[in-house]
Amino acid sequence: MSMGLLPAGFRFSQASLATGEGCPRRFYLKYLRRLNWPGAADPAGLALERGADRGRLFHHLAVQHHLGLPVEAQVQASGDPVLSRWWDHFLCHPPQGVPKGEVYLELELWVPLGAWWLRARFDKVVVGPEEVCIVDWKTGSGNRDFLESWQTLVYCFAACEGGAALSQGRTLLPEQVSLCYWHAEKPQAPLWRRHGEEAHQQARSRIESLVGQLSGLENPDAFAMTEDPQRCAACEFRAYCGRGSGVGPGWEEEGEEEGGDLPLELGY
Ligand code: SF4
Repeated sequence: MSMGLLPAGFRFSQASLATGEGCPRRFYLKYLRRLNWPGAADPAGLALERGADRGRLFHHLAVQHHLGLPVEAQVQASGDPVLSRWWDHFLCHPPQGVPKGEVYLELELWVPLGAWWLRARFDKVVVGPEEVCIVDWKTGSGNRDFLESWQTLVYCFAACEGGAALSQGRTLLPEQVSLCYWHAEKPQAPLWRRHGEEAHQQARSRIESLVGQLSGLENPDAFAMTEDPQRCAACEFRAYCGRGSGVGPGWEEEGEEEGGDLPLELGY
């Protein structure tokens, strides 16, 4: 398999795969060149940044709460009514149906993909005797179809492939993996996905196909620009690419509220 421009040990994630599928040029600029291009300092760009910051804080608070640390004072001190609302929802409306078991927080799992890795970073994983349940806390745009996202595909695939690491050496069947998206603005309507053999094979095929495409590109010009003008309109690289004037607000990457994955993408 050609190594293209990807360095050995490169770590794919749901965000970089979604980016690579949506616009290979953006994948190149963001994850290979690591071009640090500022988002627009306009209301849309600032709102996106504020939302990402608030999401990261919420995730930190949720983890601290699960560890038994008091966080109420931090919520109150923030003076942020949105954060307060999310926190009320978190306490009052946890997702129903999560099995009992060993709980792991902010767990990172790496699955080998030839010369590269697939990295999944779970907010919370519950490992029971018969199944593994991933819980993902969402705070970004609630309008996405999370269940059909790269995140669902990558999380379920990685949990199953790395099942032995999660379940004390036991093999994990795809049917034993489930994923629950709990959204802070829609706490009583969690979204569930039960993985399965067919979904697992489809996930493998999509991941390997896209990784094969991206890893085979041997020069920067081979990373094609998207033909979708809506993507360019929102992209912070649009002036760099000659796809518009000024700077776009940036995309809301999949899983970005979990702490972002850019610094961890390269394996060196
Ligand atoms: S401006 Fe358009 S072509 Fe350029 S990286 Fe962004 S989405 Fe891709």
